[in-house]
Amino acid sequence: MALIIQDEDGNIESTCCLCGEILCEPFYATSHFIADSNHPLFEFSDAPMHWSCYALWPDQTAFADLLFQTKAQNAANDELWTVIFQNQTALVTYGRAVAELDVLLRKSGSSFRVHRDNWRNWCESDWPRDVSHSLEARALSEALPLLKDITLPPRDLRAEARLSDLLKKLLKQSEGCSGNDSI
Ligand SMILES: [Zn+2]
Repeated sequence: MALIIQDEDGNIESTCCLCGEILCEPFYATSHFIADSNHPLFEFSDAPMHWSCYALWPDQTAFADLLFQTKAQNAANDELWTVIFQNQTALVTYGRAVAELDVLLRKSGSSFRVHRDNWRNWCESDWPRDVSHSLEARALSEALPLLKDITLPPRDLRAEARLSDLLKKLLKQSEGCSGNDSI
């Protein structure tokens, strides 16, 4: 994900790559998904932009399309996240260790992460609170009728436990480090 620079008080110093003004919420950013430095959209693949600027950007559709295609191709080889739904509007993958669904929308080129326990409520009523822009709301509304009927994979309690143990270990290590610092 694009790096957002903040000053000592936590104020954002990064600028929008489309209008050049200081960023403010909500903003849109992707990971560095275009490897070819000669691609005309290369400079935007790891650069934040205001959602309002992104929605009006003439290349928005092409950019979102390319992101969707790239992620769909990569998803086929991802061992941690399994594709559980894909059509022309959305790509949904499931992370076994985190028990979450990731919903990538083709039209908006944006995604949502939802825990499986909240999935049905999110599809039926909770999704609007996660939406950043009307472009995203339209893209999600279009996909939702089919997303509601997705069959969730069985829960992988072993993978969830392994991740939980790993996080506990990391937390202990970081507490150990800060303990040493204070001595
Ligand atoms: Zn802007």
